Amino acid sequence: MTLKGKGALVTGSTSGMGLGIAKALAEAGAAVVMNGVGEEADIRKAVDTVKAAGGKVVFDGADLRDPDAVVRMVRNAEASLGSVDILVNNAGIQHVARIEDFPPERWDALIAVNLSAAFHAARTALPAMRQRGWGRIVNNASASGMHGAPNKTAYCASKFGIIGFTKALALETAESGITCNAICPGWVLTGMSRPQIEAIAQREGVSFDQASRILLAGQPNKRFITPAEIGALVVYLCSDAAAPVTGAALSIDGGISAK
Ligand code: NAD
Repeated sequence: MTLKGKGALVTGSTSGMGLGIAKALAEAGAAVVMNGVGEEADIRKAVDTVKAAGGKVVFDGADLRDPDAVVRMVRNAEASLGSVDILVNNAGIQHVARIEDFPPERWDALIAVNLSAAFHAARTALPAMRQRGWGRIVNNASASGMHGAPNKTAYCASKFGIIGFTKALALETAESGITCNAICPGWVLTGMSRPQIEAIAQREGVSFDQASRILLAGQPNKRFITPAEIGALVVYLCSDAAAPVTGAALSIDGGISAK
C-alpha cells in the first residue's frame, strides 16, 4: 500500500494515536504536517520520530480551539506539501465530571477541539480535494461515540457529533472520489487515558497496572489497542483499496461494540 505523492495533515499528532497515525502515513510514503500543543521538547521528539519514518515532515502548532488558526493550518499545509489529500481530524481532549460540576468553559473547549475543528479543517481542505477528484478524511471518534458514558457528557456529545458529521459529509462527497470515515477506538494508552487510569488507581487504592486491568475489564480483548494498530487502519482507509468505504464508523475496540 503506497501513499507516495500524497500530502497528509494529521491534527493532534504530537502524541498518542495521532503520532502513531502520522508515523504510519509517513511509512506508507505520504508527506505529513503534524500538529499539536505542549512542551517543545516533547513535540521535537515526536517530529523526529515521524521524520525517521521517512519523507517530508512539517510541524504546525495551531491551537484548534481557534477556528481562524485551523483555517491557517490547512492553508499552510497546502502551501508546504503542495496539497492536502489526506486530512485526519484526530486531536481530542477529555474532561471527566458530573454535569453539575462540569465547567462550561471546558465544554466549549472540548466541543471546539473534538468537533468544530474538524468542520473548519474539512471545509477548508475540501475545495482542492474536489478539484483533484481524490481525498481522504478520517475523523477519530471513539467507542464513546456509540455508547454513553457517565461523567463524559461533553466527550460523548463531541464523539456522537463527529460520527454524524462524518456520515453527512460522506454523502455530500460520495461521487467525488473523496471518502469520509470515522474510526472508533477502544482503550489506547495515551496522555488522554493515563489520567483516567490514575484516577481509578487512586480511588481503589491499587497500582497503575491493576487499575489498567479494571479499566480493560469492559473491553473484551483485555489489552490496550496500540497507536500502530490505529495507524494501520488509517493507512488502509487512505488507500485506493478503501475507495468504496465511506460514511463508516469503524470500530477498533477489542470487541466493545460487539456487546
Ligand atoms: P493524547 O492526549 O495523547 O493526544 C491528543 C493530541 O491532541 C495531542 O497531540 C495534543 O497536543 C493535541 N491537542 C490537544 N488540544 C489541542 C489543541 N487545542 N490544539 C491542537 N492540538 C491539540 O490523546 P489520544 O488518546 O491519542 O487522543 C487522540 C484522539 O483519540 C482523540 O480524539 C481522542 O478523543 C481519541 N480517543 C482516545 C482513546 C483513548 O483510549 N486514548 C479512545 C478513543 C478515542
